[in-house]
This record gives sequence, structure tokens and C-alpha cells, in this order.
Amino acid sequence: MPIRLLPPEIANKIAAGEVVERPASVVKELVENALDAGATEIQIEAREGGRRLIRVADNGSGIPAREAELAFARHATSKIASVEDLAAIRTLGFRGEALASIAAVSRVSLLTRAAEDEVGTFLRVEGGHVTLREGRASPRGTTVTVENLFYNVPARLKFLKADATESAHIANVVMRYAIAFPEARFSLVRDGRLTFQSPGSGRLLDVLAKVFGADTATRLLPVDPADDPGLPPDAAVRVHGYIGEPSLNRSDRDGMMFFVNRRWVQDRSLAYAVIQAYQTMLPTGRFPMAIILLEMDPAEVDVNVHPTKSEVRFRSPSSVFAETQRAVRRTLIARAPVPEMQVGQPTVSADSGSAERFRTLSQLGLEAQRTGDTEAVRAPVFAVPERPDPAARRLPPLRVLGQLAQMYIIAEGPDGLYLIDQHAAHERVMYDRLMAQKAADRVAVQQLLQPMPVELTPLQMSTLEETLGELAALGFDIEPFGGETCLVRAVPADVAAGDIPTVLRDTLNELGQEPPPPVQGHRVTAVVACHAAIRAGKILTPEEMRALVEQLEQSDLPRTCPHGRPTVLHLSMSLLTREFGR
Ligand code: ADP
Ligand code: MG
Repeated sequence: MPIRLLPPEIANKIAAGEVVERPASVVKELVENALDAGATEIQIEAREGGRRLIRVADNGSGIPAREAELAFARHATSKIASVEDLAAIRTLGFRGEALASIAAVSRVSLLTRAAEDEVGTFLRVEGGHVTLREGRASPRGTTVTVENLFYNVPARLKFLKADATESAHIANVVMRYAIAFPEARFSLVRDGRLTFQSPGSGRLLDVLAKVFGADTATRLLPVDPADDPGLPPDAAVRVHGYIGEPSLNRSDRDGMMFFVNRRWVQDRSLAYAVIQAYQTMLPTGRFPMAIILLEMDPAEVDVNVHPTKSEVRFRSPSSVFAETQRAVRRTLIARAPVPEMQVGQPTVSADSGSAERFRTLSQLGLEAQRTGDTEAVRAPVFAVPERPDPAARRLPPLRVLGQLAQMYIIAEGPDGLYLIDQHAAHERVMYDRLMAQKAADRVAVQQLLQPMPVELTPLQMSTLEETLGELAALGFDIEPFGGETCLVRAVPADVAAGDIPTVLRDTLNELGQEPPPPVQGHRVTAVVACHAAIRAGKILTPEEMRALVEQLEQSDLPRTCPHGRPTVLHLSMSLLTREFGR
């Protein structure tokens, strides 16, 4: 075939495929236009998963009558005028492609009125051509109706999933914008039923309570740059948002959402930064919840990487990463509470009901999504109570009362009873101490008067050879000594002499496991701390218990061991009062 220019209809359809992948992409583009037009009230309606109809109505600026047709032309935009503008984009749209693309693959109608016009404009566009134009009464703002999406692109139509799946994608899009724009009131009507509404109060937490449920919202901790005295006023990146208490963890990464200058983005390195910040606070294999909003100079980020703009490029990725991690870590240390016991419920509940709903939001578990939706609608606009200022990041001073089952230390604090798991607590204390000593290059070592021979299995021996350097950094001086014996000359100061062979063998067994069991924090240190820590079953003297509790009080992260298990449970006075019916 000779080379030919494609007729515009075909070229437009091809280009449309990049922007409009599925009904949710239409919703995304129309909602972005509404927000760019300054709307504070945005109503979204979808029928049959959006393939029958999508309608987005806003109370924004409207389109002036003389520009209405132009809005549907490809590369027609009111948002940038020059290449320089591209470097400092403050609007969500700027490519001037959305309306043209949508109109190429559906039947669109537009009703709009700008403040300067008396009468509104109504346009019908079919297959990219205007087929009707007339003046019509209209409130200020814009309503775009998209019908029969992909009616002329059968290939795309075939790839659409069940209505429920497409509806769930639409709900995800709407909820993301509701989170990014808490001052705007969003409502989503699905097949005639109101399924989501954000309060438009301007408070992010109010929106999160609607999206994730009230229970989850009470377990979110605010990330606020104002809490960071070290942050320079001209910092390149400001990190806002909410993160979950460690106990609000999940089995997948979908609880983490990121926004850059109010644009939802997907970014693996940001997710990694957050996970890192939770180091040693989560059970292994679990992931935190985090809704992180980054603000930065638009020149610091390139949003023009992909037509849907959900991937961005940072000019300085490492500083964005570091600032995010620092903000999350700071919040956790300052605010993560000691888990309080709820009688009759497991304290470290992995997934609460509302975490479950969060899963449906992002994983499209449709059955639960439906129930979640109805709840969200029935619940009144929710105001989350102020949480008491958890400024005390460390444990309060505790008075040891005794030991229970050779496993737990019972202590009294300013607000009730504390139960401390002696093994987990000692593990935390040892881990912190070893890490601090290692960082300062001053490991407290216990030299043995006589080298101690320890018999090892061949596997333990080969693990020893592989980890010798790392063990040495923690205070072990061990020399492989022919065959299956090694000579121990020194161990970390905390290891009791009588325990040396067991500690060494258990440590090597765990380090040699294939694949290695995930441990948060520094692995070798965590494994040594775990095996060298006092065990359950050991009777402790009152002095030993007091010393351990005091050391735990000093920790920056006293509430979990490096495996993420809780070290402390708290039975508050109010819980006791309630349970005793006083
Ligand atoms: P872009 O958003 O990239 O500029 P679009 O194709 O989405 O491109 O929209 C084209 C133009 O139409 C916008 O630049 C804007 O001027 C106008 N427009 C579209 N939707 C709205 C709306 N809801 N309210 C006001 N103006 C709108
Ligand atoms: Mg747009």
C-alpha cells in the first residue's frame, strides 16, 4: 500500500484510544475539567457501568457560547498558551485532547453557560461532528453527557468488563478526586442510586471517613508539615495527609495512595518510602495505609509523561522520597498509640471491616463494594472526634507490679494497666541498642575468658561463613575451627554466657532459611535480637523487670518488636470502668 494520510475520523479514533480506555477514563477527564473550571459541586452519574451513559454536571465557570465548538477540537485548550506554560502547569488538564477524544468514540452532548452569557449553549456531537447547536436555558456551569461509549469502536467495547467492574473503577476515580479536593462536594449516582457523596467541608479527614468508613478514619494519624519544626519554610516538597496506625495494616499495598499537586499518581518508589518508614512496626508481610499528598513547585515535576498523567517524573526523585519517608516516620514516632485492649476482640486486628471496604475500593471486590456503598450513603456526614493529643511518643512511666505466667510483666501507668510481653520488649530493647551501637561503631562486646567451642551442622556452618562479617559488626568474634566446630571468642554484651550455643545456633538457623523470612529493619540485627532476648518462661526478679521496663520506656518505638508484634497492651481506666459497670 502507498503511504497515505489517515482521514481525521480514523486518526481521532486512534488518538482517542490513548485517553479513553474505559468508562472510568471518561469520568476522570470530565471531573478534571470541572475542577479546572473551579467547580465546588460535581455530580457524576453512570448507567450500566458507564457504557450506556456518563453524565458530569458542575457549577464551574462554564464555556462561553462562542468557544463551545472549539472545546471539541483536538489540541484546543484554554489552559496553556506556550511551551513555557508546560513547565508550570497548575491545572489538571492542558493537552486539549479529552473532549475531542471522547467525542470521537461516543455520542456527546454539552450544556453550558458562562457567567457572561445570558443563555446557555447546547451542543450535540456525534462521531466527532456537531449535529445540533442551540441556545438553551442553563444554570451557570457545565453538564457533559456521554452516551453509547465505544459504539463505533467494537474492539474496545469487547474489552470492557462486567458493569459492576466498570462501575467500581468509576467509583475509584471519583473517590480519588474527592480526596484530593475536599472543598468540592462530589456525588456519584449509579443506575439511579446515590452511592457516594463527599461532604465538601474542606477537611480531608471528613472525606476519608466517607471513603474508608468511620472506624478507619479514627485510626488515621495526620501528617502535617506544621508539626515539623525542622522543615524550612521554603522546603521544595511539603508532605500532607493521613497514615494508618500500625495496627491498621493490610495484606496488600492498595492502602497507599499518592497525590502530587492534587493529582493522583502511581509511583512505586513513594510506596516504598512509606513502607520503609513503618520499618519494624508492622507484622512481616503486611502493608500500611497512607494517603499522602505532596505539594511542590510545578516546575519540579513533569506530568506530561503519559496521556492519562497518572505517572509523573520528579526532577529530584531522591529528595521527594526522603521527605516523604521522613514525614511518615516523624508522624509515627510522635503519634502511633499503644494498642488499647478491647475486651472480646483481638487487639491487633489485621483487617477491620472498614479496611475491608478499602480493599474493595481498590481491588474491586464487587459484592462488598455494593454493601460498602449503601453504608456510605446511609451514614450521616461524619465528623471524626478530635483524638487526644498523643504527644507522648514514648511509654509513660510505669510501676512494675509483678510477672504473669513467666511471660508478661504487669505494670501500672498513669491511665490503667499495662501488660508487657517480656520477650518482645527485650527484643525491641536489644534491637535498638545494637543498631545504635553499630551506627556509632561502638559495639559493647563481652570477651570470653576462654574461647568456647560450639558444634554446628554443615548448614549452620556455611551460613556462619556467609554472615561472619555482619555478625562481627554486632560484637560476635567467631572463628570457624575445622569440621563442624567453631570457636566463639566474644559475643554482644547482652547475651548471657550460658545461652551462647543456643543463641548462635538459632540465629544461624533463621539466617540460613531459604527464602529468608521477611524481617523489618536490619535483618541480621533483628534475628540476633530475637534469639538473644529473654524468653517466655524465664522468671524475672523485680529488678530485672524494672530495668527492662525502663529501657523500653526509652525506646523511640516501644510498641512493637522488630517483627511487628506488640510489646505492650494497655487496659485503660475507662475500659476497666466500663467493663466493671462502675
Ligand atoms: P484540556 O482540559 O486539556 O484543556 P479538554 O478537551 O478536556 O482539554 O477541554 C477543552 C477545553 O474546554 C478546556 O481547556 C476548557 O476551556 C473547556 N472545558 C471543558 N470542560 C469544561 C468545563 N466543565 N467547564 C468549563 N470549561 C470546560
Ligand atoms: Mg481536560
